[in-house]
Amino acid sequence: MQIVIQTLSRWYNLESRDLPWRRTRDPYCIWISEIILQQTRVAQGLAYYERFVGQFPDIQSLAQADEADVLKLWQGLGYYSRARNLHKASRMVMNELGGVFPSTFQDIQQLPGVGLYTAGAIASFAFGEKVPAIDGNVKRVGARFFGLVEDIQSQAFQKKLFSLLKDAMVFADANVFNQAMIEVGATVCSPTQPQCDVCPLADGCLARLQQLQKQLPVSRKKQKPLSKFHYYVDIRCGDHHVVVRRPDTGIWSHLHEFPLIEGDTADWDLDAVLGRWGIVEKIIVEGEKTFKHQLTHQTIHAKCWYLCLPSNKFVKNDGWQWLEKDAILSLPLHRLMEKMIRFT
Ligand code: SF4
Repeated sequence: MQIVIQTLSRWYNLESRDLPWRRTRDPYCIWISEIILQQTRVAQGLAYYERFVGQFPDIQSLAQADEADVLKLWQGLGYYSRARNLHKASRMVMNELGGVFPSTFQDIQQLPGVGLYTAGAIASFAFGEKVPAIDGNVKRVGARFFGLVEDIQSQAFQKKLFSLLKDAMVFADANVFNQAMIEVGATVCSPTQPQCDVCPLADGCLARLQQLQKQLPVSRKKQKPLSKFHYYVDIRCGDHHVVVRRPDTGIWSHLHEFPLIEGDTADWDLDAVLGRWGIVEKIIVEGEKTFKHQLTHQTIHAKCWYLCLPSNKFVKNDGWQWLEKDAILSLPLHRLMEKMIRFT
């Protein structure tokens, strides 16, 4: 094992991609990069990372920011709870921990939005703690390297892999070891075409030795995404449109969008939608458009009617704001809302 780990470390030092968060030991920057990179490709995350640490260079500046500014900077990345949790955690560090970022695997996990992987990454990259950082890529590499047959989603798999990697790390620099495992998963040991002939782990890899690359990792079938039906109205009066801020819970919380009715079927018409808000006065229908928006666990089939009112004095609902388009575009918006408003 010791020789394989040395080969892995040498390979990483020679072959790894040069990424800005790998040039720092600052736990704040590492934390920001790790949260951005959850569910996001490096190529896309890079620009967001540069912008984020440019605008909020340290935990103090993030804690002092308005949540809306943080969400605006995050716009387009999706999974907005990540941004809300970053903001919440920065205030927790400033208000409860004296401004000092926690420095151990256990303590880092206390921050909102930080799970086992992120805590392991920060603890090892910033503080050198010998604890594994197991993301989706490392799970695949680990399952193949150690020949693990448990379901990759299961607790049993996670526990076993954690313990095996922790033992293997005894021979390594924690930062280099974890980064190298992530790098192997991202660049060499791909889901369908692992390049075993150039892999630094090849000499010790059970899947390669037994030709089990296709069988490992074992994964239970993916659930089909749920279908949801969203009915929006863009109500315009002159240069002003109605927008609402989404509630504290659920997807896209605190982002802004046009008034929405969530239906259970695909066949709602405009009368049914307007009736839910009690809008009965004369409305001019200027157009309508449908959108399909894919999230990880749900497919949103959205329809938006573009409406014009001669007067807005009768259209009043809790939380509705009348704003000009530029003002709406300056608010934090989800991607579906961006598509809908750009169509207007
Ligand atoms: S040897 Fe092949 S299967 Fe094993 S870790 Fe490397 S790329 Fe993956």
